[in-house]
Amino acid sequence: MKSTGVIRRIDELGRIVIPKEVRKKLGINIKDPMEIYADLNSITLRKVEDKCIFCGDTRNLISFKEKLICKKCFDALYKEKIED
Ligand SMILES: [Zn+2]
Repeated sequence: MKSTGVIRRIDELGRIVIPKEVRKKLGINIKDPMEIYADLNSITLRKVEDKCIFCGDTRNLISFKEKLICKKCFDALYKEKIED
């Protein structure tokens, strides 16, 4: 991870503006969901992309209990359950 060299101040509501150049470079648009990671020394923002929670595939996604599963993993899971 490299520094952008940009320093921003947090406003009264705890908000910070992500520089336009960074948003453009990463394809981040208004209303895009961002996941926030934090540890003792840093905060990382990661663009949430729709992908299968098991294999990471972005095609043929099925939503189940607010998680996304691709058709292939869904079928494999279903088949495994049936065989139990
Ligand atoms: Zn999958």
